[in-house]
Amino acid sequence: MNRSWQQLFSESVLSPEQLIERLQLPPESLSDLISGNRLFQLRVPEPYLNRIIPGDITDPLLLQVMPQIAETIATSGYVTDPLQEKSNNPVPGLIHKYKSRILLITSGACAVNCRYCFRRHFDYQDNALSKERIQQVQDYIQQDTHINEVILSGGDPLATSDLRLKQLLNSLEQVTHLKRVRIHTRFPVVIPQRITDDLIEILTASRLKVVWVFHINHPQEIDPLLTEATKKLIQAGMPVLNQSVLLKKVNDSANILAALSESLFDAGIQPYYLHAFDLVQGASHFNVTDEQAIRIWQALQKELPGFLLPRLVREIPGRSSKTILNTDI
Ligand code: SF4
Repeated sequence: MNRSWQQLFSESVLSPEQLIERLQLPPESLSDLISGNRLFQLRVPEPYLNRIIPGDITDPLLLQVMPQIAETIATSGYVTDPLQEKSNNPVPGLIHKYKSRILLITSGACAVNCRYCFRRHFDYQDNALSKERIQQVQDYIQQDTHINEVILSGGDPLATSDLRLKQLLNSLEQVTHLKRVRIHTRFPVVIPQRITDDLIEILTASRLKVVWVFHINHPQEIDPLLTEATKKLIQAGMPVLNQSVLLKKVNDSANILAALSESLFDAGIQPYYLHAFDLVQGASHFNVTDEQAIRIWQALQKELPGFLLPRLVREIPGRSSKTILNTDI
């Protein structure tokens, strides 16, 4: 029997012991996994586990989700809020950094807990979007006519029920100067079953144009289920873009990134951003320096046509847009 996305979500692997057993990892890695897990809880759903090669401790998908002892080591220069989002949080649940768009912390939950997440220390409890806060958000956007786009983020916005998403959309639609809703999500990547006909119906019924931005870092993350889900979104008239994060030992090579862009395009997804790593505490083992990032991007440029080349960017707090890294060094 096919399991619903809610079942797959609730049956996710949540403990180091389960992960070791399910993926036949060396039992001696247990204490390292437990140490890392204390700081940020492990979460991996079944459809994603199925794409990890059992017994391979270097699998690039495993490295993204497996807690490690390195997470417990305090590294100078790494902080809990690398993008200084706390200072751009005028209403709880709302982050306003750029002139024409705001970001909503639609949910504090994710379908997968990525070890390198720049929001791994974020205070989701203080930013939960209650019914009253949705009204506050609507009022905030209403008084600023520069804002024409809302980014649903999190956590993962698709961890929210369809009903809540519909209520949120209904509220946003009241603001006449809003044109678009962008959905930043990793949910359909790790649980493609989240893309249901009901969800598509809710989104296409809105007067707001919906744009998807997936988060895929490695070609091994793209499977037939994800491709099928993406096709449904595109057929319903919603563009699907992708952003990746450049991560040490996961995708820090031009060959892997070129294969990723090709696979994305085959699945109907447009490569968009390649993010330089944000220096978040607990994830220093993923760091790729800007200089290395630029070298990798230059090699990537030689492999791909321009339309498959993601923009190499870094978010620098206080700037009015993302910064394209200087690729002429
Ligand atoms: S899905 Fe996104 S928000 Fe959630 S842990 Fe991964 S990177 Fe962070």
